[in-house]
Amino acid sequence: MAASRVIFICEHCLSADDSSGECCGQPRTRYEAGEPGSELSQPLYDNEGRLRSHAPRWWLERHQGGSESR
Ligand SMILES: [Zn+2]
Repeated sequence: MAASRVIFICEHCLSADDSSGECCGQPRTRYEAGEPGSELSQPLYDNEGRLRSHAPRWWLERHQGGSESR
């Protein structure tokens, strides 16, 4: 069984922690971040090698449904 990294992020201020807890008066949301160093935890680059977002891929998939439309 692969060890999946789980992190907890506050939906308000987006601070992350590796343990559950409260931030901004509410519990952090649990995210599966994949294995450390896996594709899921790498930031997204466009075809020209520019950083598209500082957010890791699992975050983008969670918030954009995994697809981008322009
Ligand atoms: Zn917070």
